[in-house]
Amino acid sequence: MLTDSHCHLDRLDLSPYDGDLSSAITAAQDRGVERILCIGIDMANAETVVNIANQYANVYASVGVHPLDVAEELVQIAELESLARSEKVLAIGETGLDYYYKNDTAELQQQSFKLHLDLAKAVNKPVVVHTRDAREDTLAIIRESGISEVGGVLHCFTENWAMASAALDENFYISFSGIITFKNATQLRDVVAKVPLERMLVETDAPYLAPVPYRGKKNEPKYVVEVAQCIADIKGLSLPEVSEITSNNFDKLFLNKE
Ligand SMILES: [Zn+2]
Ligand SMILES: [Zn+2]
Repeated sequence: MLTDSHCHLDRLDLSPYDGDLSSAITAAQDRGVERILCIGIDMANAETVVNIANQYANVYASVGVHPLDVAEELVQIAELESLARSEKVLAIGETGLDYYYKNDTAELQQQSFKLHLDLAKAVNKPVVVHTRDAREDTLAIIRESGISEVGGVLHCFTENWAMASAALDENFYISFSGIITFKNATQLRDVVAKVPLERMLVETDAPYLAPVPYRGKKNEPKYVVEVAQCIADIKGLSLPEVSEITSNNFDKLFLNKE
């Protein structure tokens, strides 16, 4: 069994499925992708992703405001609390810091990130963190927050080993996407080699970032197989081994929290 730990099901291109989300989910199941975490990105789609999770036994949701969607009036994260407490919501996010695409909102992003961490602690659910070109600030905020007791994941990881290692020290998991299959991602594959499999998750981040050989096409959850296969190749393991261990990791982080 594989678990796609980060997917935007409400944004998939469903044209190959006659507009039917169930068929896309079934297509994933047919390739062994049996569970999907559907990620919220703003106040407006929070209810949508929770509704999707409520429709499918094997789909879960997270709620949060993406750092690139943070705006003055959107820093009202506390309003997400009742949704955050629903049963199928496993995590808070995605949140975090993205200075690569938006440097001018850095302060607002930090403010929002901290509010998400407070919410995650309040509802005792891990946090899904998006981080790009903001290594020091991301780590500093994580360290200050005390979120390590609740846990979290750095999703779609594209940073260096120092960042991965520091996050592992904070009890975080590292999630890899189709980017690790890209031809030019040699350095990132070196990071994959170093991160213990027991601390790894796999994701598609669909509809974005389709892995090789589908690069440039619309991504969907069934392609998380290619991500897991790439990890298997790097680590010299079998696909079933990577599938099982990353799914167990998902359980430990999101489901069996004791
Ligand atoms: Zn992201
Ligand atoms: Zn995402």
